Amino acid sequence: MFQGPKIRKCFITTCKRCRREIPAGVKEFPFQSVVVECPLCGEVRRYLPSELMLGKPHPLVGKRPPTPARATGD
Ligand SMILES: [Zn+2]
Repeated sequence: MFQGPKIRKCFITTCKRCRREIPAGVKEFPFQSVVVECPLCGEVRRYLPSELMLGKPHPLVGKRPPTPARATGD
């Protein structure tokens, strides 16, 4: 059996707004563009398969709760 590293890689993309690596939320490589919401800045964008890569998300991802849909004063 294949024994992978403890840190599992996943498909990520680079947020077009904050330029951090964010999880694409897909388990398998998509053949169509996917809509990804950045957990760090809340940017919702459509990413092409060519913009996805296998890697680790930014360390901040998962530490902070998702950005509220509408923050007061934003
Ligand atoms: Zn972002």
